[in-house]
Amino acid sequence: MRSWIAILILVPAALGLALLPVIRNPRPPARPPLVVDDVSQLNPIKVSAIVEPTSDADVADAVARHTGPVSIGGGRHSMGGQIATENALFIDMRHFNKVLEVDPEAGTVRVQAGATWREVQDAIDPFNLSVKVMQSYANFTVGGSLSVNAHGRYVGNGPVITTVKSIKVVMANGSSVEASPTNNRELFYGAIGGYGGLGVIVEATLELTDNVRVKREAGEMSIGRYARFFRDGIQSQADRVLHEATVSLPDFARLREVTYTRTNEPLSVRARLRSSDGSYRLNRLALWIQSEWPLGSSIGRYLLNRVSSPDAPVSLRNYEASYDVAELEPASRESSTYLMQEYFVPTERFDQFVSKMREILRLRNVNVLNVSITHSLKDPGSLLAWAQTDVVSFLIHYNQDTTPEALAAEEVWTRELVNAALNVNGSYYLGYRLNATAEQFARAYPRAAEFVALKHRVDPTNKFRNRLIDRYLQ
Ligand SMILES: Cc1cc2nc3c(=O)[nH]c(=O)nc-3n(C[C@H](O)[C@H](O)[C@H](O)COP(=O)(O)OP(=O)(O)OC[C@H]3O[C@@H](n4cnc5c(N)ncnc54)[C@H](O)[C@@H]3O)c2cc1C
Repeated sequence: MRSWIAILILVPAALGLALLPVIRNPRPPARPPLVVDDVSQLNPIKVSAIVEPTSDADVADAVARHTGPVSIGGGRHSMGGQIATENALFIDMRHFNKVLEVDPEAGTVRVQAGATWREVQDAIDPFNLSVKVMQSYANFTVGGSLSVNAHGRYVGNGPVITTVKSIKVVMANGSSVEASPTNNRELFYGAIGGYGGLGVIVEATLELTDNVRVKREAGEMSIGRYARFFRDGIQSQADRVLHEATVSLPDFARLREVTYTRTNEPLSVRARLRSSDGSYRLNRLALWIQSEWPLGSSIGRYLLNRVSSPDAPVSLRNYEASYDVAELEPASRESSTYLMQEYFVPTERFDQFVSKMREILRLRNVNVLNVSITHSLKDPGSLLAWAQTDVVSFLIHYNQDTTPEALAAEEVWTRELVNAALNVNGSYYLGYRLNATAEQFARAYPRAAEFVALKHRVDPTNKFRNRLIDRYLQ
């Protein structure tokens, strides 16, 4: 009897002891895969690890140690998987965002590349200085903007590369290299506009300009009159600062232009920068009406014009440069999402491209929210230049259903538009959907082979990758 009692006590105790390590160290729950995506939410990409550097050394260390693919993400507003590739080490630059030095004498700012334009504006506005070339919105990082060689609506200016004094790049072996138009030129003209394919831009010194007062004036005209209006009324006038036009929808027949001219008149908008936590409910409602209602185009546009036409039109340049992309965000991106495409055509081919664009967008029933027209001077030498001459740009903002069929249809019309641009010696933007064929890419970016040769030299194991590099630049 005693031995039975002993067995009954000792066996469970021994079992318990044997299981103790398991109980103490339960198997860790399966971790969800690390996935990064861009603003379109159409490109979820599984990565192997994510690092969030806060110093040059963090970036250099992460790149040097890792033997597999490395991808770089800024504000993630590109729309075709340009920020990552499968199983990459993903460098999230958003915490690497210090403004290192403002030099009011030289009119320059030195920043870490993860800083957003808005963070730069917060630092330079007290000196009454302004970013010389940037996009219309201020949420993008400096590194992301340089890597796509962004442009804005600044009259008489070219791509952002024209305002870059120098950059510092962390290369595949972890070393840092300075580059400028006169020092390591090839790297400078390759990395800017190079979509993170040559290295990580960790620092940039940018030229600034005065934060002048500007007066907003708007006008309407038939689309056929615009080319001449732009040449005589905008391009050739030294006091024009910002200029943009939007095409009337759904007829594509008229155009509304908005121009900001330098002025000494008293300010009627007191705020120096726009609020960075606005709700933008009215803008978003107007876009929703435009994209979802049968006659929504005219109603939505009317509402948008009401919101964006202040009665008091004299403001500061920084105020006009600090828009927030939140104003464009749909309530959900699940069954449909807002996307963009951009095409660049030589200024003198404006009319030809417009008629072809109108034909394609109508034939393919594209749910267009807006077509905005800006311009850019010729690129000074980037290997992946989208402005091979002075160009007019057509930015098409549209609502896209996310079913596979709808996305296949999108491929068709976007390729047709690339052809329309190529046929007038134009090009298209690489930062949006990666729908163009390899052949179209090669025609639009004739110096791509030079970029690839440089990449082979400076990144021999093809470390820096993302979906754009994988698709067109191997
Ligand atoms: C609403 C909206 C409006 C826009 N308006 C304009 C406009 O007016 N003009 C214009 O030109 N573009 C415009 N764009 C496009 C925009 O400029 C690009 O998407 C830009 O890349 C956004 O910057 P980001 O910080 O989000 O870059 P991300 O999308 O994060 O990255 C873009 C590319 O740069 C690479 N990259 C990012 N940081 C670095 C780094 N530090 N070093 C090396 N590579 C890096 C990434 O790997 C990726 O290939 C607009 C986009 C949206 C969504």
